[in-house]
Amino acid sequence: MITSIRGFNDILPPETTLWQHIEGAAREVFKVYGFSEIRVPVMEKTELFAKGIGDTTDIVEKEMYTFSDRNNESVTLRPEGTASVVRAYIEHRLCNMPCAKLYYIGPMFRYERPQKGRYRQFHQIGAEVLGISDPMSDAETLDMLLAFFKKIGLDDIELQLNSLGCKNCRPVYREKLKQFLSEKKEQLCDNCQRRIDTNPLRVIDCKSRKCVEVTDDAPSILDYICNECKTHFEEVKGYLYLFGAGYSINPRMVRGLDYYTRTTFEITSDKLGSQNAVAAGGRYDGLVRELGGPDVSGFGFAIGMERLAMLLKEGSGSTSHEAGIFIVCIGKEAETEGIRILKELRERSLRAEIGYHDKGIKGQMKMADKLGARFTLILGDDEISKREITFKDMKTGVQEKVDIEGIAERVIDEIAQVKKV
Ligand code: ATP
Ligand code: MG
Repeated sequence: MITSIRGFNDILPPETTLWQHIEGAAREVFKVYGFSEIRVPVMEKTELFAKGIGDTTDIVEKEMYTFSDRNNESVTLRPEGTASVVRAYIEHRLCNMPCAKLYYIGPMFRYERPQKGRYRQFHQIGAEVLGISDPMSDAETLDMLLAFFKKIGLDDIELQLNSLGCKNCRPVYREKLKQFLSEKKEQLCDNCQRRIDTNPLRVIDCKSRKCVEVTDDAPSILDYICNECKTHFEEVKGYLYLFGAGYSINPRMVRGLDYYTRTTFEITSDKLGSQNAVAAGGRYDGLVRELGGPDVSGFGFAIGMERLAMLLKEGSGSTSHEAGIFIVCIGKEAETEGIRILKELRERSLRAEIGYHDKGIKGQMKMADKLGARFTLILGDDEISKREITFKDMKTGVQEKVDIEGIAERVIDEIAQVKKV
């Protein structure tokens, strides 16, 4: 048996219905906030991510699917969406618009250790606002994210907010933190000992219990950000209030990507276990320029779809099929009539399936049951000669003979009744 690659999952029905529901809700909510969809490739030149995400980040250091194509060009399966969206924004001169509000949905690839909530191919719904530095935009985009969670009925989540300062004030904090960490070096985990020099901010985000303890009294970034960043942060909080969005401040929250400046955030749920972030993002004011574009601001987020699906499944039990109809046919004449009714029901957007004659009536009834049909229409030669159909409610088991004319209307009525309760 050939199996799928470790960390790469199949998403099977009926769970795919849940995924469609999530995607549909995102499209609906994002549209009213003025966002349009962008579809970017799943593979890019490696340099885009090396430059965009940062050489010393975990992603670029050890998680990318990078290989040479047949022309010996180094290519990488995208580990995240922002770099590609920014590349497209620059390449197609979308900067000529007053601002670009874009969203994407699709798979990302990271060579991580697979575990609950962490896979090697996973999916994100992301959104980016390019060209606006106003703190109102941070709050508005966060409000959109929260509106999305509300729409899909997830209310048990928390918005954690922080500011990472800018290229002027963060280096000062970085040095201060480096000093603090150097003194405690021996007590940190191996990975963090190495990070002290390359990426010290990531140390205070380490999940190992020892590192959390050791860094408990580490200096806080919020005491070091410059006045401009402070004002921006205060304004974001003020606008969040105006938009009616609740949050908590978490000065220990740093992000795994280098490009973030000022506002950063995570949406967390304590129902997720140790992989507790279901969405994350922030402001990235230097990235567009870093990638060769104009000096414009950016703000964005990405939602982890696997983790979101996990949360929704927990809340609602299993996803069920739409109420459907199954047509059982015995004999050639019945088939002719059955196919006619089948087509009519489908044209009216009802889920309708038909039995195959080689299974016989017993086999077809079994199939109807297994497929979860709510109603079964049974057509045999006897029925056909009387212009009748046996109409069976699979849930109650009640069946009756009804007139073949107007059967579509009858079924539509019954399905509407079922949907009402
Ligand atoms: P984490 O701290 O959980 O590793 P991250 O900081 O790497 O997250 P981002 O790159 O900001 O996460 O991605 C945004 C969201 O995408 C995360 O909050 C999470 O829900 C999801 N995500 C990230 N990596 C994975 C993965 N390997 N498998 C499944 N979902 C993921
Ligand atoms: Mg990660």
